[in-house]
Amino acid sequence: MKTIYVDNAATTRMSDVAYEAMKPMMQEIYGNPSSLHHIGQTAKEYLDDARARIAKCINAQPNEIYFTSGGSEADNQAILTAAYNGAKKGKKHIISSKFEHHAVLHTLDKLAKEGFEIELLDVYENGIVKVEDVKNALRDDTALVTIMTANNEVGTIQPIKEIGEICKENKVIFHTDAVQAIGHIPVDVIEMNVDMLSVSAHKFHGPRGVGFLYCRKGILLQNLINGGAQERGKRAGTENTPAIMGMAAAIEDACSNLEKNAQYVSKLRDMIIDGCADIELSRLNGDRYNRLPGTINFCFEGIEGEGLLLLLDQDGICASSGSACTSGSLDPSHVLLAMGVPVAVAHGSLRISLCEYNTEQEAKTIIDSIHKVVAYLRSISPVWEKIQKGEVVE
Ligand SMILES: *Cc1c(COP(=O)(O)O)cnc(C)c1O
Repeated sequence: MKTIYVDNAATTRMSDVAYEAMKPMMQEIYGNPSSLHHIGQTAKEYLDDARARIAKCINAQPNEIYFTSGGSEADNQAILTAAYNGAKKGKKHIISSKFEHHAVLHTLDKLAKEGFEIELLDVYENGIVKVEDVKNALRDDTALVTIMTANNEVGTIQPIKEIGEICKENKVIFHTDAVQAIGHIPVDVIEMNVDMLSVSAHKFHGPRGVGFLYCRKGILLQNLINGGAQERGKRAGTENTPAIMGMAAAIEDACSNLEKNAQYVSKLRDMIIDGCADIELSRLNGDRYNRLPGTINFCFEGIEGEGLLLLLDQDGICASSGSACTSGSLDPSHVLLAMGVPVAVAHGSLRISLCEYNTEQEAKTIIDSIHKVVAYLRSISPVWEKIQKGEVVE
């Protein structure tokens, strides 16, 4: 049986260009970039080059890029930096949204325990934050606004440029988690008016365990990890040069093929959305059009997401019920609940996240398999008949 991998929002298959870029860093150019001998200095040249190439992809300066272990670390460092810098000036109010990634929400939980006031904005049924709400929430003591560029479970794209504009006017630090956006939709830190931006390589065919934080020049970045003077003293630890070279190759590849890939992938996305539209009591979560090229999130009433995933897997289809971070727990997704999806319905969620390696034939197989599996699960469901009759089921 052929594997059909459509869980690209969880992680991706590494691209050949990323894989090839990593190899020499392991057995040839394996020096420590801080070493003074030639093999160390060669590694440093590669590192500098990677930093410059990555910066160019998001319209930043090389010295505004700080390599991290991934998106989670970048989110933590950005948010804690803005919070603690703000607190020094008596600013302890932070604005975010209800459906951020846990790397953001759990960092905000920690800050709440430390006395910060966290305000989480509504994301409405369409999964999009209202610019007006950000404007109204801003206060004199607001230290930070952090809103993701695109949501990882439903794929909706947020009005980042407009939110950034308001933050800029009010001199409030603006951070965005762009992990799902980079390589899939255009990301330009100047155009988007962002001060800080988080990226993870493994969401665009780079290696896992590496990412970066863009931090605009002039912001005093706070360390999460103390030690050596790497990353201009802001993130200690010997640089993961293979992963960083892989990330640089992957981001360049993704950004230079962005339009072509987005066009191709969104065609597959729309095929699947349209192909499943005839399933009764199903819904597409999140705005129909303002979404990432590859992300689809459905709910099918009367079904448990776990059963759906296991049966799809038997057809070779690797999908997700939503976030990889919450799978394993039986709680429904905080993203869907924030969008007002009823608890009973949110249990039957399915996320399909595509990439340019997927094919039309695979999309057809997915549509057929979803129809078959949903019908089967409903046929053995004790509650399906009641739901069909419109009786409320908890
Ligand atoms: C995957 C993801 C992260 C976490 O990135 P890691 O590199 O896995 O730590 C953060 N935010 C969003 C939106 C993500 O999709």
